[in-house]
Amino acid sequence: MSDARGFNTLAIHAGQEPDPLTGAVIPPIYQTSTFVQDGINVLRGGHEYSRGSNPTRDGFQTQLAALEGGHAGFAFASGLAGEDALLRAVLEPGDHIVLGGDGYGGTNRLVNQLLGRWGVSNTAVDITDPDAVRAAVRPGSTRVLWLETPSNPLLGIADIAAWAQIAREADALLVVDNTFASPYLQRPLALGADVVVHSTTKYIGGHSDVLGGAVIVSDREFRGQSLAGAVGFQQFAGGAVAGPQDSYLAARGLKTLGLRMERHSSNAQEIAEWAREQDGVAQVLYPGLPEHPGHELAKRQMSGFGGIVSLRFGDEASARTFAESTRLFALSVSLGGVESLACYCSEMTHASVRGTELAVPTDLVRLSVGVEDVADLKEDIAQALAAVRSARGAVPAA
Ligand SMILES: *Cc1c(COP(=O)(O)O)cnc(C)c1O
Repeated sequence: MSDARGFNTLAIHAGQEPDPLTGAVIPPIYQTSTFVQDGINVLRGGHEYSRGSNPTRDGFQTQLAALEGGHAGFAFASGLAGEDALLRAVLEPGDHIVLGGDGYGGTNRLVNQLLGRWGVSNTAVDITDPDAVRAAVRPGSTRVLWLETPSNPLLGIADIAAWAQIAREADALLVVDNTFASPYLQRPLALGADVVVHSTTKYIGGHSDVLGGAVIVSDREFRGQSLAGAVGFQQFAGGAVAGPQDSYLAARGLKTLGLRMERHSSNAQEIAEWAREQDGVAQVLYPGLPEHPGHELAKRQMSGFGGIVSLRFGDEASARTFAESTRLFALSVSLGGVESLACYCSEMTHASVRGTELAVPTDLVRLSVGVEDVADLKEDIAQALAAVRSARGAVPAA
């Protein structure tokens, strides 16, 4: 499918052509582990065994590559499985990673606790400070710069093009975790990144009913091989692939990503603007607010500000009360589904970095704003704020 087509057209059609055999508009789910051979090693459609390739996964991978403007896409059993496969595909023991701080807690755990044991070291940096990023590079041993923007859960915005420049000078790869923005709002490869990763569990799947991960690569060569070859081999040899059912669900979700992100963004913008006027909210973190330090940059490098809003309450007790008082916003880890979720990150998602310089403020609650009617979401926040005020002993608002 021509890349000149629009995002939503590609989302619906790339890799999702009708079944040539039956005419089924939706390609079937190829729920099979193996494929019959017409002679020894004579493969009918190029498929041999579903760890190596499966038509349902292939279609999803084509869709992912088209939407990120990448050369190839690879689907994994989870976001972390994809990150692990990517890092082991491109790194060797003794290498070093510059790791953007304020990122997904599980990425930090993977890099420190699994890759650390494998002999890969890392330095955490403030993602908004390119000088700090440059200073953290160790010439000759830094092979990966890892960036998450908007960051989690502080919603900092980093300049992807500036990071890409630093990576190029260091002969390292820039990997961008694009889970929060999704390809609808931000396309890092076009800004100079080499690899994009996703937890497709989040906005791409979009319905909180499937785990998955994706790695989308440019056509760059690295260490004498193509990125696509290296990641493809790791996926096959390591085996953490997305199964056919999971690939189908994520591909189905991806078709409506554009519609959903528009609504997530408009709901989140309205809630952010409203919440900063509410009694009991100390600070609203959302890149769509003009006072956000990354607002201008986000306007340049994103086409919308996304569905995640973090609220700070000034003290831990209030944040805990708020998180336990919302009703529509379900108290839960994860994000990016059609339903709204609230998370007390310092203990629920970022417990692995507590006590380190990457610890999340204890007065913060992260909201994953869903696509419900925004008036109902505001009403839910208002009643949770009333619970915070009465727990503080103040007179509740009428
Ligand atoms: C959830 C998440 C991951 C990890 O993905 P899983 O599918 O849970 O393994 C990685 N990065 C970000 C930004 C995430 O939100």
